[in-house]
Amino acid sequence: MKVAASYAGTDPGKKRRRNEDSYVIAPPLFAVADGMGGAQAGEVASGLAAAALEESGANGGGERRVIELIQEANRRVHERATTDATTAGMGTTITAALVEPDGRVVFGHVGDSRAYLLRDNTLEQLTDDHTLVAELVRRGELSPGEAEVHPQRSVITRALGTDPDVDVDTFAIDARPGDLYLICSDGLSSMVDASDIEEILRRNRTDLAAASKALIQAANRGGGEDNITAVLFAVDEGPATEPDERTREFALPTQDEEDTLHPEDGVAPPPPASPAPNAVDTMVVPAAEIDAALAAHEEQQAPQAGIGRRLLALLVILALVAIIVVLVWWGLAR
Ligand code: MG
Repeated sequence: MKVAASYAGTDPGKKRRRNEDSYVIAPPLFAVADGMGGAQAGEVASGLAAAALEESGANGGGERRVIELIQEANRRVHERATTDATTAGMGTTITAALVEPDGRVVFGHVGDSRAYLLRDNTLEQLTDDHTLVAELVRRGELSPGEAEVHPQRSVITRALGTDPDVDVDTFAIDARPGDLYLICSDGLSSMVDASDIEEILRRNRTDLAAASKALIQAANRGGGEDNITAVLFAVDEGPATEPDERTREFALPTQDEEDTLHPEDGVAPPPPASPAPNAVDTMVVPAAEIDAALAAHEEQQAPQAGIGRRLLALLVILALVAIIVVLVWWGLAR
């Protein structure tokens, strides 16, 4: 089994000035990292993690090797975050895939960047999100639909850089000829339904550049609220050592050409993107603190409930006053 083609596309989206996503496209190793932190720290975190993987020159080694790579990436991000005050508190997700010489694809995963597989024209999500809302869905306290619109949907329960050690999920897929794998940041998966991702991959499965571009365009049309990164790789029969000439790498221009307005169209160009007031920033809450985080969230909601109750009481009083006025008027009129 070999990597027959691969491609990476990334775009800041419509609401963010910076692109804090990073990716690795170093066959047989692929990854997406989605950084977080103030100022430029998110870019630093995801960039350090991606560089750590890229430098490894990984080729084989299975789950153990993938865990080693991610632990090393974590060590580098954490060390920088604890020694450089400008990056304190930064972190990053990582979802990595290593295509093994034995035909398995080994994944390592921390955070909410996702891996998908298109096999026989059906899309399957391979990773479980390490998020507060995903945890609540697993506990049966939230429906998947509620999770999609939950105000705390960007709270992740695991990230690289926040602790000296990190718990890495790993699993392996027995690759089949024709498999198409997608690793993406939440800027894609939160803006485009899985059924639409499936449709786009089906239509463009022989042209990964077109697939990547179509995914990013769909995410921007869906709102483009976050940075969008899509890494694609296709697996096919053949010796793993065969040189891979079709592998390419490309970052899309910052603006979606077909959505860009030019002065000659008679319309003023859009103002430079600034952070959306309602864009949700990713933050980390360790799984052990989920209940505390949730209690804090409910407290935030409580004043609103209080206002609702006070409003109801006021309406009841007004209704009583109106009834008394009507009764008195009726009594006088007789
Ligand atoms: Mg993101």
